[in-house]
Amino acid sequence: MHTQVRTCPFCGLLMWVKEDQVVYPDENTVRYKCPHCQQTVQFKLVTQGSNAAGPKMGH
Ligand SMILES: [Zn+2]
Repeated sequence: MHTQVRTCPFCGLLMWVKEDQVVYPDENTVRYKCPHCQQTVQFKLVTQGSNAAGPKMGH
């Protein structure tokens, strides 16, 4: 388990994103509630690499 740091687009403060509090509405989207302003922030996960668009097998 790792922690990401993101800047909230609403209040501009840094958020330490804890994985156990993150919601994944779909596999490419992350939704997190800012602990400072309580706004729901949505991130797009950008998958990089030549196989990014390929089918995913299993987990
Ligand atoms: Zn915020």
